[in-house]
Amino acid sequence: DSAGLAELEAADRAYVLHPSTQLKAHAQGLSGGPQIITGGQGATIRDAHGNEYLDGFAGLYCVNIGYGRTEVAEAIARQAHELAYYHSYAGYSNEPLIELSERLIRMAPAGMSRVYYGLSGSDANETQIKLVWYYNNILGRTTKKKIISRHRAYHGSGVMTGSLTGLPVFHQAFDLPMPQIRHTLTPHYYRREDAGMSEREFSQYCADELERMILEEGPDTVAAFIGEPVLGTGGIIPPPEGYWEAIQAVLRRYDILLIADEVITGFGRLGTTFGSEKYGIEPDLMTLAKGLTSAYAPLSAVMVGERVWRVLEEGADRLGALGHGWTYSGHPLGTAAALANLDIIEREGLVERARTTGDYLLAGLREALADSPIVGEVRGAGMLAAVEFARDPAARLPFAPKHKVGVRIYEACRARGVLARAMPHGDILGFAPPLVLTRAEADRIAETAREAVAAVA
Ligand code: PLP
Repeated sequence: DSAGLAELEAADRAYVLHPSTQLKAHAQGLSGGPQIITGGQGATIRDAHGNEYLDGFAGLYCVNIGYGRTEVAEAIARQAHELAYYHSYAGYSNEPLIELSERLIRMAPAGMSRVYYGLSGSDANETQIKLVWYYNNILGRTTKKKIISRHRAYHGSGVMTGSLTGLPVFHQAFDLPMPQIRHTLTPHYYRREDAGMSEREFSQYCADELERMILEEGPDTVAAFIGEPVLGTGGIIPPPEGYWEAIQAVLRRYDILLIADEVITGFGRLGTTFGSEKYGIEPDLMTLAKGLTSAYAPLSAVMVGERVWRVLEEGADRLGALGHGWTYSGHPLGTAAALANLDIIEREGLVERARTTGDYLLAGLREALADSPIVGEVRGAGMLAAVEFARDPAARLPFAPKHKVGVRIYEACRARGVLARAMPHGDILGFAPPLVLTRAEADRIAETAREAVAAVA
């Protein structure tokens, strides 16, 4: 009833410290929240007031198989009855852990050798940094420790991963980044300074800039480069033509490891099983989370390539047992959820579906927004799309932040029953629907975007 609901909402404001939230506005009830979500089916969620929304962002780009999958719920329940938990330290193991690891190695790009598990993309990337340091310590290269990330990257919110993240709002208030981290150019062709550059020239320019940074820092101090195949939270930015090829050529020249952060792009989101496949990336290490379980349970994975694995294995003689682990590494409820999730992705052909429905959605958005005077760029890859707004699209001039154009358009979409995401940097509206999205739902997203943009323009 509505009195009970008001009480629940008041309790949220009184007791919950929400992530990525204006704390004071929320606590005082000035933010319109909380929005209490109670259930979902397919690409639709509903709230405690009985409103339904088409979830155009799959939660946080993670519910790839859609909501309400009893099959996954039952797999988790079965595992909970059988063995809810035992650790995987010191060689202890369990069946879903082994089965999932073998399956991931078979699915992954060639050359992947071992899998380490965590609970979130953030903790997996913390593990990546430690493995890269451990690797160089084993090799006796004790100065080779810096990690190069990119401006506008998102790799998590931990102390080191928040440092890898290249968005000012994740740095300023927390004394980040940490000193071992550098950021190089964002490969956003639309925002290039030199309008005369071709996409390929711009990619080479980004690679040259990376090389310049490596030489300036000293190649023997740079351990790894980390990148999202398609840059996500920083604005949903697919790489310009030839980008990954040019970047990898530089990394090889200086013996620098490549970490592909596939937290968003893994498990079909780009219309390929992994983003590395789509862009010809040959990672030494890969980070997985989100679509690994479609968020039915928390689970992340670090995939370790053969080249790194061989050193780690031999290094044990010099540095002893790996001094790194979480209580919940390889938690059976997470691995059971992942196995059931992967069954669904395979059986329903969701990778292929993401490709075709994603192309259809992007074409629909482009058509719906073609005549808008405030749309600078509509871009996407697979089931990821973004609309970037501009005060003057031809001159590629952004709006002043005070106008909050992206946030207002996000709100106008929500008022029409469609959840997109106002990306945290610039005026960008992002879409990352569940891979099960239907064409009718894609049409609705495009039409809603048209109406919402027109209402704000
Ligand atoms: N890496 C990427 C590319 C991400 O998009 C995210 C989250 O959005 C993370 C890492 C961090 O994952 P988590 O929020 O599970 O810690």
